[in-house]
Amino acid sequence: MKKRLTRFWKAIKAAGVDAIVINSPELIRYLTGFTGSESLFLLSRKEGLLFVDSRYTEQARNESRNIKTIECVKKTDGVIQALLKSGFKKVGFDPQKFTVSQKKVFDEKDAFTMVELPDVMEGVRAKKDAAELECIRNAAKISSSSFLEVMEGMRAGLREDEVALQLEFTMRKKGAENVSFPIIVASGLRGALPHGLASPKKIERGDFVTVDFGCVYRGYCSDETCTVALGRPGSRQKKVYQVVKDAHDKAISSIKKGVTAGRVDAIARGVVEKAGLGKYFRHGTGHGVGLAVHEEPRIAPKQDTIIEKDMVFTVEPGVYIPRWGGVRIEDLVRVTDDGCELLSSVSNELLSI
Ligand code: ZN
Ligand code: ZN
Repeated sequence: MKKRLTRFWKAIKAAGVDAIVINSPELIRYLTGFTGSESLFLLSRKEGLLFVDSRYTEQARNESRNIKTIECVKKTDGVIQALLKSGFKKVGFDPQKFTVSQKKVFDEKDAFTMVELPDVMEGVRAKKDAAELECIRNAAKISSSSFLEVMEGMRAGLREDEVALQLEFTMRKKGAENVSFPIIVASGLRGALPHGLASPKKIERGDFVTVDFGCVYRGYCSDETCTVALGRPGSRQKKVYQVVKDAHDKAISSIKKGVTAGRVDAIARGVVEKAGLGKYFRHGTGHGVGLAVHEEPRIAPKQDTIIEKDMVFTVEPGVYIPRWGGVRIEDLVRVTDDGCELLSSVSNELLSI
């Protein structure tokens, strides 16, 4: 934790702030070890203070032993008192994480100015250390192997939500502490919804079934999508699947340290566009995964973030055709010295059941 705090402080030093107020549970966990869902963390060059209410005092003291825990009824008041006492003038915060009411309470004080630090704060978690990688690897292993197990019982007539439930149950049985997001099972025409939650619709022969799933292991998430065919796929299904697979494979082989996130996106998008399906691929190619299932880096058009070793993110091109259905193929990768390592492990060859 100490190393992370030093690295974090170094990253935000350039902004010239005296202290920083953090409210993101993931970033607080990353920096202090505290796993509670509600707290405020005030960090300066000198020290870190963790503000919690009485529900979390014991837990915070146990989980973040090197950080001073302060119990207060209103955490914002506690932080403001500490700031007034310290004489700090410039206080950094992440405008994407602060609520409007939190910001208002801080803005009302004249003794210090709030400085927006939008990118640096979350960016510090993009590169994973060895302990984090081990958790993500485990999460990815549990989810891939659970998917394969559930597919053994996959058949026409099952409801989408039954498949989702089985998958969640299997992941939990294998040691996951949670799902990283509600599992998506979108079959047939519903496949045209990129984020179609599992519904009571029955899966039918001839359907493509897109399953997007992930689990949490020791706080760290995994994320993977597989599209399978129920019965023999038709020629259009095969064609669309192949386009998405090519986009996925080409993007994966373009990943190495030093390229930009926008470049990886452009490669995936280029393949889909060349096949004339560009207008059906309307989301980014991928996103970072760690303590949060969506974090830095964003693999999307025009993103100039430089890809670095040990970043972990998804590659997930998809094509969604209204009144027809859709295909998405998603894998989780870790950037290595000369390419990337696949963390999710279900084969991307079209599986017909
Ligand atoms: Zn996903
Ligand atoms: Zn994803």
